[in-house]
Amino acid sequence: MYSSRSIRIRWWAGICAFFLVIILLVTSASAASTTRPFIPRISATPQQVTGDPDGVIPDDETLSPFDMSQPAIVNLDPELRAALQDATIDAEADGIIIVVTSGWRSKAYQQRLLNEAIATYGSLEEALKWVKTPDDSTHVSGDAVDIGFTDADYWMIENGYEYGLCQTYANEIWHFELAVEPGQSCPVPLTDATARVK
Ligand SMILES: [Zn+2]
Repeated sequence: MYSSRSIRIRWWAGICAFFLVIILLVTSASAASTTRPFIPRISATPQQVTGDPDGVIPDDETLSPFDMSQPAIVNLDPELRAALQDATIDAEADGIIIVVTSGWRSKAYQQRLLNEAIATYGSLEEALKWVKTPDDSTHVSGDAVDIGFTDADYWMIENGYEYGLCQTYANEIWHFELAVEPGQSCPVPLTDATARVK
């Protein structure tokens, strides 16, 4: 039989041991949380894409090549976009502002443009010299960009090769594609969009 005194001691010892365990658990947990490695976030807050989902840029508007809120810019081929952005920075040093007048387009938007061109030029054959079908358009695939204004077009015709950017069609001084390795000279532009074999 245990005396009531030894039961009391054991009871207190039990209470003390219980709290000791609690204290150890709490301190080890907080130590673990303070030593947890800091994992940097890849991107602070991704910019929300709020622009026209078909990539429409109204006639009286232009976009910055850096505007990642716009599907017309976001959906461009990343290499083309990077080349365009590099060129834009260098052009600015020459006093030339490059803006995007048309970038990536949805198939639906491309079809609307083709329909408008048929109405304007009177026939599909003539319209195709200016606007390609949704299946053929390099705007739809994200591989083409139209830039402005005229001073920027001529700056890019002269300097674009340094970034791999070339004027594709002789009748469109504003339309550029990534066509060569940076620094290589650009091929002679095709007469118009119908001359392209794709
Ligand atoms: Zn174009």
